[in-house]
Amino acid sequence: SASPYDVIIIGAGAAGLMCAATAGYRGRRVLVLDHANKPGKKILMSGGGRCNFTNLNSTPANFLSDNPAYCISALKRYTPQDFLELVDRHGIEHEEKAAGQLFCKDSAKDILNMLLTECEWAGAEVRLKTSVEQISETNSGYHLHTGSGGLTCESLVIATGGLSIPTMGATGFGYEVARQFGLELLPTRAGLVPFTLQPELKEQLGPLSGVSCQVDVRCHEQHFREPMLITHRGLSGPAMLQISSFWEPGDSLAINLLPACRIIEDLLSLRKTRPQWTIGQYLAQHLPKRFAQAFTELQGWRGPLQGYKRSDLERAANTLGQWSIKPAGTEGYRTAEVTLGGVNTRQLSSKTMAVLEKPNLYFIGEVVDVTGHLGGHNFQWAWASAAAAGNDA
Ligand code: FAD
Repeated sequence: SASPYDVIIIGAGAAGLMCAATAGYRGRRVLVLDHANKPGKKILMSGGGRCNFTNLNSTPANFLSDNPAYCISALKRYTPQDFLELVDRHGIEHEEKAAGQLFCKDSAKDILNMLLTECEWAGAEVRLKTSVEQISETNSGYHLHTGSGGLTCESLVIATGGLSIPTMGATGFGYEVARQFGLELLPTRAGLVPFTLQPELKEQLGPLSGVSCQVDVRCHEQHFREPMLITHRGLSGPAMLQISSFWEPGDSLAINLLPACRIIEDLLSLRKTRPQWTIGQYLAQHLPKRFAQAFTELQGWRGPLQGYKRSDLERAANTLGQWSIKPAGTEGYRTAEVTLGGVNTRQLSSKTMAVLEKPNLYFIGEVVDVTGHLGGHNFQWAWASAAAAGNDA
């Protein structure tokens, strides 16, 4: 008997819903399956509940991948402007926070509702609380064993995301499917995630907990100038989340606490013009008072600048400009925003996201080895990869 579906998409998240609407508008009969009781849970919790749904300045340079050229084509064919037009068509109010980062003014629910509305208009069906137990190939496509019976389709799209936030329904399902069909997986690890510290350092930084300041953090030739937040658990804030995607266990971070200053020049000239000042007073001009004070104490900097030799000031400048911290680790998938690694893109078409050897099996969104920087890039990849697959499946 003929299957009622041309395309089955597993995963009703950002990429899955976008793909469903796109394929549905082409007249394809689409079914989206998800094991969760609600669609798009991560969309709802994203951007602090207001969903940083794209970044107007997104370019391929904002993505990490073992195959950096892979994302170029899809990102070019479905741009942040394209998604913004969709958001505007639905009358969703938004605002630009940091440069290029677009958030909902009201709630991330607006984005999820928009996607569900698009699915409805496109005639795509979304079925929740359905787990897929087995997938097999047929002459004309795929057969799925689900908790509620068998389903067949011509094209199968895997949009089950990565491993971050298991409590929100994340599973390694997509990786298992990839393995089943002989695809290579690149090692996965948590990205955009806060750092944890060794007990001793954590205790030393205890008094700084809750303080945030603009830093420039560096690791492996990568650096980000963004706010850092010291928490009772370790280091967080955009700067730390960004660099965490490049950090590997054992690496140190070099943190410039005064990225807008010429530190040694400042200290030398202050020693002349304000010889009674302390380093703490200098810091307090550029950093939150509490941070300036606690950091000065931590470093044991005492007394007026006139009492410091040039070499002492150089040492202090070095500490301020390249404060070296060796994180104990990261908080891991429990709190990570994304999963690095995943399905090796060298086995996929950059035009359609289909497996090169199996042109009706697609992998989109976070399950593949394309990971964006913080700031709306991950959703932009979800939309763009979904549009590419949805136009082909
Ligand atoms: P998901 O959106 O995770 O969707 C995967 C879907 O598959 C889920 O519905 C899940 O239930 C389903 N699924 C999983 N396993 C199975 C299975 N075995 N069977 C059936 N269904 C399954 N990115 C941004 O760009 N901007 C932000 O502001 C932002 N904020 C974030 C905040 C947090 C706290 C987190 C965790 C992430 C944030 N991200 C943000 C990242 C972004 O949410 C993801 O990159 C994006 O959701 C990935 O889309 P996806 O469709 O590939 O996967």
